[in-house]
Amino acid sequence: MRKKIVAGNWKMNNDSEQTDALLEDILAKKPEFTNAKIVVAPSFINLQAAVQKTHGTNIIVAAQNMHQSESGAFTGEVSVGMLKSIKVNTVILGHSERRAYFGETNALLAQKVDTALKHNLTIIFCFGEELADRQSSNHFNVVESQLREGLFHISESDWASVVLAYEPVWAIGTGETASPEQAQEMHAFIRTLLRENVGDKIAEETSILYGGSVKPDNAKEIFSKPDVDGGLIGGASLKANDFLGIVAGI
Ligand code: PGA
Repeated sequence: MRKKIVAGNWKMNNDSEQTDALLEDILAKKPEFTNAKIVVAPSFINLQAAVQKTHGTNIIVAAQNMHQSESGAFTGEVSVGMLKSIKVNTVILGHSERRAYFGETNALLAQKVDTALKHNLTIIFCFGEELADRQSSNHFNVVESQLREGLFHISESDWASVVLAYEPVWAIGTGETASPEQAQEMHAFIRTLLRENVGDKIAEETSILYGGSVKPDNAKEIFSKPDVDGGLIGGASLKANDFLGIVAGI
C-alpha cells in the first residue's frame, strides 16, 4: 500500500508567532484521526520551534529547500546537517518557485537529491510543466526530462526515501486546478515511467502527490483518482480549517 500524504508548503509566510499559532490550531483539531501522513513546511527560521511544538504528534516537519553542499562558504544558505541537527528529516526539493526565481536546474537538483539521500532525508521532489508546455502538448516530455535529469540516477534502495509531487506551474497559486482527469492522466504517465525505468515494485510503492490550487472543496475528487496519493498544498495550508479539510478528503 502506498502512503497517503498531505503536505503543507507554507512558503515565505508566517513569522514565529504565526507559526506557533497555526500549529496549535492544527493540533487542536486532532489530525491524528487520519490515515494520511501530514507534513508541514515552515520557513527555515521557524523549523526548530515547529519541531519542538509537534514533538510526539503525527505531524512531520519538512524544510522547503537546502543547499547541495554539506558545508562551506555559501553565505545565507542552509545545509543538510543543520536540518538534521534540529531533527528535520524531510525536505522539499525542486519546487517550481525555486526553479523559476532561484535558477534551480535539473542538474543542480540532482546534486541536492544526492546530498539529501546521503544523509537519509526523505525528499518531496517537485516538478511540473508550465502553461506554454501544456499548450504546445509538450507537458509529458517536460515532466519526463525533469524526472530523468533530476532523479532517475538514484539507486533502487533510495526510492524508499522519495515522494513525488506533480505540480503544473499554471495551477500553482492561480486558483486554476488541473482537473482530476488531467491529474490522473499525468500521474499514470509518471507511474508508467517509474515502471519502465526503475521497476514495478518501486512504481507501485512510490507516492505521487498533486499540487496546484488544491482546496477543501476539490481535494476529495482529486484524491479519489487511483494514481493520486495525496497533495502538496500552498495557499490552503495556511489556515488550519482548510488544511485539515483537505486532509479529510484523503
Ligand atoms: P497552491 O501552491 O496550493 O497555493 O497552488 C501549491 C504549491 O506551490 O506547492
